Amino acid sequence: MTYRSALIVDDDPVFGALAEDLLLDAGVTSVATASNGVEALAHVDGGAAAADIMLCDLNMPAHDGVSLIRSLAERRYPGRIIIVSGEADSVIEAVAKLAKIQGLNILGATRKPLRAEDLAHLLERAADVPARKAEPAAAVPSLLDAAIERGGLHPFFQAKVSMTTGVVMGAEALARIATPHVPYANPVPYVELAERNNRIDALTFAMARAVSRYVADLGAVGVYLPCSINISPASLERVDFPDLMAEAIATSGLSCDQFTLEVTETRLVEYGARALDVMTRLRIKGFGLSVDDFGTGYSNIDRLQMYPFTELKIDQSFTRKALEETFARACVETSVRLAKELGLKVVAEGVETREMWDFLAGLGVDEAQGFLMSKPLPPAEFKALALSGRTFLDKASA
Ligand code: C2E
Ligand code: MG
Ligand code: MG
Repeated sequence: MTYRSALIVDDDPVFGALAEDLLLDAGVTSVATASNGVEALAHVDGGAAAADIMLCDLNMPAHDGVSLIRSLAERRYPGRIIIVSGEADSVIEAVAKLAKIQGLNILGATRKPLRAEDLAHLLERAADVPARKAEPAAAVPSLLDAAIERGGLHPFFQAKVSMTTGVVMGAEALARIATPHVPYANPVPYVELAERNNRIDALTFAMARAVSRYVADLGAVGVYLPCSINISPASLERVDFPDLMAEAIATSGLSCDQFTLEVTETRLVEYGARALDVMTRLRIKGFGLSVDDFGTGYSNIDRLQMYPFTELKIDQSFTRKALEETFARACVETSVRLAKELGLKVVAEGVETREMWDFLAGLGVDEAQGFLMSKPLPPAEFKALALSGRTFLDKASA
């Protein structure tokens, strides 16, 4: 993104001159300077010349960076902000968080000395304002019934790609629900409705039957692919769940060891002895067990060790945070290392950018899933991808 005007707020004239050169080199056409927060606010209140982007130091004698950010938030400053400071990373990150919480459009933070590549990278970023997602349409009970009983359930498949070879190693099946308005509606409201109405196991078994049909169809053309199916944590309370799940898979003549069941991490803390019983029997039948959305809940790897998991899926939000904050980065690094030491396969989900791919590949993550490689696809399109032998190593930086 190109910015027209910039304001550098720093009490050090040498830094000001260097930053001005870097901004002009980056294509900014007009650069103003202020030596403290008071001068910066005078500039902002001046209106006509308000800057598109502000580079803000933290430690200044009059009206320091934190006070300036508070004043900018009060004025609902619409420009983008980059924090550049000599303070410790933890302090810089705390201020960046504070700015974000107060609704400012913060692009990121970096330590002095400011380097051209860091500045270019930050200028490329979209402002980190919380995206307001459109709420999916509410679930309709009769359509849930149609999904479970009358063929209104459509599995899509998203590729899981090896981070070392770029080859498609498997797929995750994601439910789509037929409605009169959209043929493939988002599953989340339907999964939640099914959980509330005690229909979730019926939905899971219908999904398992449909998915295993497509997986068998791939097998018939010589493509053996492991496939993941999402299950609800509520099912782990049901002692006959392993038998019924195995029966659903057997309808297509497949064996359970071609399937991994994904359970979201957020409710792991609620699991008791019964869940451990059910999980253990699922493993004995041959299913893999994956912790989904790792990093969104409260568990740590130590806690996961209690359960017989085979795979850990790192949530997209955890990776995103790691790219911005030192503490989150350390958490992701430690999680990956420990998971691998425990013999778990590590998969990253929601990989959307080359930056994410490079970071995760550098940590030794085994597989990645995300829009960078492929969206969830209808079965015929996924089959074509699996048969094409296409690899995705071109997604990594050389
Ligand atoms: P999940 O299991 O964590 O699945 C990943 C979600 O992230 C999917 O959303 C997928 O479409 C989306 N996704 C994949 N790559 C990217 C990416 O690069 N960027 C972004 N922003 N998103 C990406 P989807 O299909 O809407 O599913 C949402 C959730 O619904 C799933 O999250 C899963 O928890 C649940 N779900 C889906 N199918 C079923 C099912 O058959 N049974 C149960 N119990 N839950 C299901
Ligand atoms: Mg999943
Ligand atoms: Mg997930």
